[in-house]
Amino acid sequence: MTQNRQVVIRELPRGELTNDHFELRDGEMPAAGEGEVVVRTILMSIDAANRAWMQGATYREAVKAGDVMHTYSIGEVAESKDDRLKPGEIVAVEARWADYVTVKAKHAQKLPDHRPLSHMLSILGIAGKTAYHGLVNVGRPEPGETVVVSAAAGSVGIFVGQIAKALGCRAVGIAGGKDKCDWVVKELGFDACIDYRGGNLFRELKAACPNGIDVYFDNVGGEILETVLFQMNQKGRVVCCGAVSQYNSTAPSGPRNLPGMVVVKRLRMEGFIVMDFADRDEKATQELMAWVKEGKIRVVEDVVEGLENAPRALTGLLAGDNRGKRMVRVAPDPV
Ligand code: NAP
Repeated sequence: MTQNRQVVIRELPRGELTNDHFELRDGEMPAAGEGEVVVRTILMSIDAANRAWMQGATYREAVKAGDVMHTYSIGEVAESKDDRLKPGEIVAVEARWADYVTVKAKHAQKLPDHRPLSHMLSILGIAGKTAYHGLVNVGRPEPGETVVVSAAAGSVGIFVGQIAKALGCRAVGIAGGKDKCDWVVKELGFDACIDYRGGNLFRELKAACPNGIDVYFDNVGGEILETVLFQMNQKGRVVCCGAVSQYNSTAPSGPRNLPGMVVVKRLRMEGFIVMDFADRDEKATQELMAWVKEGKIRVVEDVVEGLENAPRALTGLLAGDNRGKRMVRVAPDPV
C-alpha cells in the first residue's frame, strides 16, 4: 500500500514556534470524489506567513491544532475525477504537509511544465511576484532613487533588491548577521546591506543611504520599520509586505512614530497582497524571466529535503537560517 505521511500540528504555539509543536504520522491514502483530484506533493513552499496563519484568520483561513499543517505546494495529479485535469499534470494547490492530498479540481491551478519545478515557487512563484508587484506597482521607484528592503536575504527580499538594481536604483538591504549581509552584497549585487543585529542600524543606514530613502519595502515591521521611517525622504513610499518580526511574538512592538512621520514627510504607506495584482502577473513573469536571462537576477533557492524535515525548515526560517526561497522537497520532479 502507498504511504501517506502527514505532519500534524499537535498544539498551536503561544510565542515561539518549535519543532515540538508538530508530529509526523501515517495517514490514510486519499481517494478522489466527483470533481476532485488526488495530488502527489513534489515541493512545499515554506513561508514566514505559515506562522502568521497560526495567529488566526488572515487573508486565508486560520490553522488549528490537530490540522495537518497547511501549505502552498506543487504536485503531480495522481488520480482525477474531473475533466479539467489528467493524471501526470503539474498543479499548484493550497495543500497540506503530506505525501498526498485531495483537492477540488477547480481549486487546482494547472502549471506550465517549466523545469526545474522549483522556479514555480521562487522567481516565477509567489516570492518573485510579491517582490515584483510590491516594488514595481506599489513602491514605484524611479531610476536613481534609493530602495531599502528588510529580510533582504529571504525569498522576497533577494528579488526586491535585484529588481531595484535592474530598474536603475540604489539597493540597500537589512538582514540578520554579518555573513548574510556580505553575501547579499557580494552574491546578489546590492550596494550595501546592514546587519540589524549589530546594534547600529540607525547610523549604518544613514551612511548607506546618504541621499535618504525613497522606497522602503517592509517585510518585518516593528522596530526596524520605526528606524527606517525616520530616514524616509519627503513623498517616500513604504511598501507594507509583511511583519515577520511580530509573528513569533506575544507582545507586538513598534513603530511608535506613526502617524507622525507619515504626516511630516508626506509618506504613502500602502499594504498589498500579491493576488491583488493577478491581472498583471503575465507582465511580471515576462520581465522577471528577461532579467534572469540577462543575468540581472540570480535565482537562489534553499531546498530542505524530506517531508519529515518540514517543521525544522519552518522554525529555522523564522530564526533566519535561510538564504533565498525556502522549500521542502517531498518527491523528485517527474521525468
Ligand atoms: P523569508 O525572508 O524567507 O524568511 C523570513 C526572514 O525574516 C528570515 O530569513 C529572517 O532573516 C527574517 N526575520 C525573522 N525574524 C526577524 C526579526 N525579528 N526581525 C527582522 N527580520 C527577521 O520570508 P519571505 O517569504 O521572504 O517573506 C518576507 C515577508 O513577506 C514576510 O513578512 C511575509 O509574511 C511577507 N509576504 C507577503 C506577501 C504578500 O502578498 N503581502 C507574500 C509573501 C510574503 P534575518 O536573518 O535577516 O533576520
